[in-house]
Amino acid sequence: MRTPVKSWDSHWIDGRWVPGAGAIEVTDSHTEEVIATVPEGTAAEVELAVDAARRAFPAWSATPAKERAAILQAVADGMHERQTELATLISREVGTPFMLANLVQTGLPNVSFSSMAELLDGWEPDSRQGNSIITREPVGVVAAITPWNYPLHQIAAKIAPALAAGCTVVLKPSEVAPLNAFVLMEILDAAGVPAGVVNLVCGTGPVVGEALAAHPGVDMITFTGSTAAGRRVAAVAAQTVKKVALELGGKSPLVVLPDADMGNAVLRSLTGCFINSGQTCSALTRLVVPASRAAEVEELAGGFAAFATVGDPFDPAHQLGPLVSALQRDRVRAHIGRALDQGARLLAGGVEPPHETGFYVQPTVLGGVTGDMAVAQEEVFGPVLVVQSYDDGGTEQEQDDAAVAVANDTVYGLAAGVFGGDPERALRVARRIRAGQVEVNGGAFNPVAPFGGYRQSGVGRELGSFGFEEYLEVKAIQL
Ligand code: NAD
Repeated sequence: MRTPVKSWDSHWIDGRWVPGAGAIEVTDSHTEEVIATVPEGTAAEVELAVDAARRAFPAWSATPAKERAAILQAVADGMHERQTELATLISREVGTPFMLANLVQTGLPNVSFSSMAELLDGWEPDSRQGNSIITREPVGVVAAITPWNYPLHQIAAKIAPALAAGCTVVLKPSEVAPLNAFVLMEILDAAGVPAGVVNLVCGTGPVVGEALAAHPGVDMITFTGSTAAGRRVAAVAAQTVKKVALELGGKSPLVVLPDADMGNAVLRSLTGCFINSGQTCSALTRLVVPASRAAEVEELAGGFAAFATVGDPFDPAHQLGPLVSALQRDRVRAHIGRALDQGARLLAGGVEPPHETGFYVQPTVLGGVTGDMAVAQEEVFGPVLVVQSYDDGGTEQEQDDAAVAVANDTVYGLAAGVFGGDPERALRVARRIRAGQVEVNGGAFNPVAPFGGYRQSGVGRELGSFGFEEYLEVKAIQL
């Protein structure tokens, strides 16, 4: 699986490879070796790409929905053909265990393209309200800025609906895991996406990302990444008053009600927290449990976590791979160290590296965490689960109030979960949590349900019909 990887020296602009300068290094997160380089773009390439996207917009937006759907399906088919290659690249760039990369990192993007093809079938932009025709039109040129944790999924979650709506796109993928995006350009080209409809400029956030956010020729910016960078993108974009969609961070709770099966809840919590080594924006990283059961839950969580296997992502025996980079590994270890300094108890894992080489962090569980600790408030983005408790001494209503208060006690609102013996009660609690996605008793991820955040987790929704709507303007024509 660790065969030589192709480097790229050009950006994809107006249907051709345009040579770029600079060389950003891409690292294998298990071996720590540089495996390839990609160009480091500048505002000059952004200019070319936005110009190409603007010129391509009239013809693409006028292409019948049926033809756009056929191209989107061809993209999904093309991704399927190159699935192993893509999954291998992502396992190396990000460190995701290969089986998971094959299933999620490449499976989800496929669904994004094929679901948009399906959605366009029979889609009607016009409706009537009184004397008005209400019509939906593509927003225009979309700039998409994406992160490294599910790199291809986050690209597809933007490009597929944008193309479906009739928009043209300039993509700036994460410079940390960019290789999959270059392969995607080849797939788009082979599927018949016309020149200029999707352009790729590789580079860093402050240079290429901000040039896109500031550009008056960009009508909408859709960003996925950290809350800090999202805030900056929104501020820069505000100068030209463009539409902004933000998918940001989270500190998502899994609330366990007193009547829940604690073993099931803890298992779901660890799986949800440790997937992709905790580098999942919607990871349920806070296990919120009744105070009277906290000791039992902590023992279960610490015990289960100790069995999690960590190592080479290409060895199927390993449930967790390395983190994406040395920077991310060091950040996560610093979070663990600070939590321990602030009084959290170590139930499993810790700051010591499990392997000498590779960006590894031990799967870690921290007990006795209270809302005033940084680790209860700040996104860690690594395999770190914290156990928080709520007072379950009163009536059922008082218990639920206390649990909801702890669940909602962060600036985020991306995802949550509720576990309870009484499904009706669990659903009532789910409705009270201020988050864009809530799973009840382990309800499975739905790739066409709207995904996005409340509060500082973002603005707007991705995936399915709600994701598609983001790329449409609404026009009322009075007759
Ligand atoms: P990041 O914010 O560092 O980078 C994300 C992207 O933004 C990259 O392409 C980066 O180059 C670019 N960028 C950085 N600074 C920028 C700036 N000033 N202007 C324009 N672009 C800029 O995030 P990351 O480390 O790549 O990803 C991890 C973060 O992403 C986590 O906080 C995670 O929660 C979040 N995330 C959110 C979702 C979601 O859907 N809500 C999904 C995945 C990841």
